[in-house]
Amino acid sequence: MKRLFPLFLALSLSLSLSACGAPTVGDVGASEQFFAMDTIMTVNVLDENGEAAVQAARAEIDRLEQMLSRTREDSVIALLNTHAGDGSALAVEPELGALLRFAQSVSQDLPGCFDITIAPVMDAWGFTREERHVPDPDTLADTLALVDWRALTVAEDDASARLEEPGMAVDLGAVAKGFAAQRAADAIRAAGGTSALLDLGGNITVLGSKPDGADWRVAVKDPQDTERQLGVVSLRDKTLSTSGGYERYFEANGITYHHILDPETGYPADSGLLSVTVVSSDPLLADALSTALFVAGRQAALDYWRSRDDFELILCGSDGVVTVTEGLTFAFRGEEHGYPCETARR
Ligand code: ADP
Ligand code: MG
Repeated sequence: MKRLFPLFLALSLSLSLSACGAPTVGDVGASEQFFAMDTIMTVNVLDENGEAAVQAARAEIDRLEQMLSRTREDSVIALLNTHAGDGSALAVEPELGALLRFAQSVSQDLPGCFDITIAPVMDAWGFTREERHVPDPDTLADTLALVDWRALTVAEDDASARLEEPGMAVDLGAVAKGFAAQRAADAIRAAGGTSALLDLGGNITVLGSKPDGADWRVAVKDPQDTERQLGVVSLRDKTLSTSGGYERYFEANGITYHHILDPETGYPADSGLLSVTVVSSDPLLADALSTALFVAGRQAALDYWRSRDDFELILCGSDGVVTVTEGLTFAFRGEEHGYPCETARR
């Protein structure tokens, strides 16, 4: 489970306002907190009669967890993994086929950074079943040899998929919450919701503006001390997704090992970044890129940002330097902790 969550300023603001009689989530909308996809999630819909929209979002998240979780024996992903190397193609929902293909496109765009067939290596580190330990070199080499996103075949019509080698397995941990956020946001809109905030384990998606018409304001944590903030981003109809080594980790012999792995080495990524925050209108893209660009490092992340126009970045390096791309409205708060902040331009 993710231990630390970006601050949810908008909710705390409305809760504090409630003390002086202003409208709260409870008065005008609906809110629910629950455990799914191995993390704590909160769905807030601030429209009147928001309860149906909240329940529609939750139903989507539950449905997708059932499909995507590889630790649920009856999930489609668990079946895909069980059938690895036996030559049979497994029928999948086209939305899942499209998700697998999307993940492959990220691997193609950012070579050596992102691979959903990382599952055997995640298992070797014990991250999957919470038995975390440094794997012995032979186990690591054996599992690393199974990592190859090109050996995942998805049919052209997205309706079937196959893993080519025995022992291969898919782990959608890097994209499942983004995909769920996309579908949950669609469900909220379909139920008539216009103002909502979803916090899927630190993956924040906002719909519309706050009920008073103001932007949502979402804090980004300081990865060196998660009680502190690097700053606050103003958002409308966007997702803010952060990946950092501080989210899920263990220590052995004085070394910290975290859960975002370099698919080239099988070791936790060590690119010089402590956290990567991606802001995008596309929740799935934000989730996938926060993981992939954390592995890629600052220069490659900025090069990739310059090659596209559908996301913005906040990068925090182990050198303490915070880099913010020019398309964001970001109130920096790190100077009091001595962090330099630079703006990246196209
Ligand atoms: P979190 O799930 O903590 O929010 P991320 O979105 O960055 O963090 O996803 C991390 C998860 O992605 C890991 O728990 C693992 O399941 C998977 N993963 C780890 N390294 C990679 C990688 N290089 N490429 C694709 N998936 C990865
Ligand atoms: Mg991710």
